[in-house]
Amino acid sequence: MDYSVEKGWHDARIIPYGPFEFEPSCMVFHYGQSIFEGLKAYKGADGGVLLYRPYENMKRMNRSNDRLCIPQIDEDFAVDAIRQLVLLDKDWIPEGEGTSLYIRPFVFGTDNALGVHPSHTYKFIVILSPVGSYYAGGLSPVKIWVESEYVRAVRGGIGAAKTAGNYAASLKAQEVAEKKGYSQVLWLDGVEQKYVEEVGAMNIFFKIGGEVVTPVLNGSILGGITRDSVIEVLRGSGYKVTERKISIDEVHEAYKNGKLEEVFGTGTAAVISPVGELCYKGEKMVINNNEIGEVSQMLYDTITGMQKGAIEDKYNFTYK
Ligand code: PMP
Repeated sequence: MDYSVEKGWHDARIIPYGPFEFEPSCMVFHYGQSIFEGLKAYKGADGGVLLYRPYENMKRMNRSNDRLCIPQIDEDFAVDAIRQLVLLDKDWIPEGEGTSLYIRPFVFGTDNALGVHPSHTYKFIVILSPVGSYYAGGLSPVKIWVESEYVRAVRGGIGAAKTAGNYAASLKAQEVAEKKGYSQVLWLDGVEQKYVEEVGAMNIFFKIGGEVVTPVLNGSILGGITRDSVIEVLRGSGYKVTERKISIDEVHEAYKNGKLEEVFGTGTAAVISPVGELCYKGEKMVINNNEIGEVSQMLYDTITGMQKGAIEDKYNFTYK
C-alpha cells in the first residue's frame, strides 16, 4: 500500500514476493524513517488460522509511526489485510511443536530528497515467513551479558518505537557479547546505566523473593506484547507482578541473598526465554542452577497453548 499527501493511503494490493527498485536518494536509506512489527499466525487444533493479538501490533505500529512522523495506518484495515494475506494459503503455516508463520509488517519513507524532513510518501508492506521451533529440544536457559559500555536508548529518544535505528544501535554490543559466549545483551538505562531496561529483542522479568518484577515502561523500552500477555496471565494465575524501576544492583543484591529465584525474557520469537546466567561487569550470576523455572514453564505452556488453540483462551488473545 502507498501513501502520498494528496491521496493518503491508497492502492492496497497483494503481489508476488520479489525485488523492488528505489532511487539512491530514497530518504529511508539516509535518515532511517522506518518502522516494523513482528507477529505470528498459528494453525489451530481445528485446522483454522489463529493470529496472536494483531490489533496490539498495529496499535504499537501507530505509536511508533507517531514518534517518527509517519502517517497513521487504519488498524482495522491493516489487520484485515494481514488476515487476507495469511489466508491466501493455509499451507504456509507449518505444523508441529513451536512452529508458526511469522508476519512482518513494515513502513518506510520513500521521498527522493537529501534534505532532512519527514517524507511525504511512504510504503506499507507485509511479508510472511514460516519459522521453525525456537527451541529444538524444548525450553533451554540462555546466557545474557549485562551491557555496561554501550547504551541503546535514552530518555526522550526513540527507544519505545520499533524502528530500525534502535536495532542498528544494538549491533556492536551484541557482537561483543557473542564473542564472549553470551547469546543476548541486557540493556541498562541510557542516563545512569543503572536501571534494567530490556534485552535485544525481549522484555525481562525477575522473580525475587516470590514476587515478579519487570521494568516499568518509561519511554525508552519497547512495550512488548508478550510482556503484556505475561503480566495478565501471571495476575490471572494469582501471582503478584510489579512494574517498577529495578536497578542492576538490586538484582545483584537479590542474587547474593539467594532471593533471585527466576529470570526470563519475553518476546514474539521465543515467547518465554528462561535465563540461566547473567554476567555484569565480569561477575557471573547463575540463576536457578541454570534450570528452567516453574513460572517460565507455566507461562510458556499457557501462552503457546492458547496460541495454538490447544487450551482455552480466557484472555481473548487469539484472533480468527
Ligand atoms: N524489546 C525489543 C527491543 C524487541 O525487539 C522485542 C520484539 N518485538 C521485544 C522487546 C518483545 O516484544 P514482543 O513481545 O511484542 O515481541
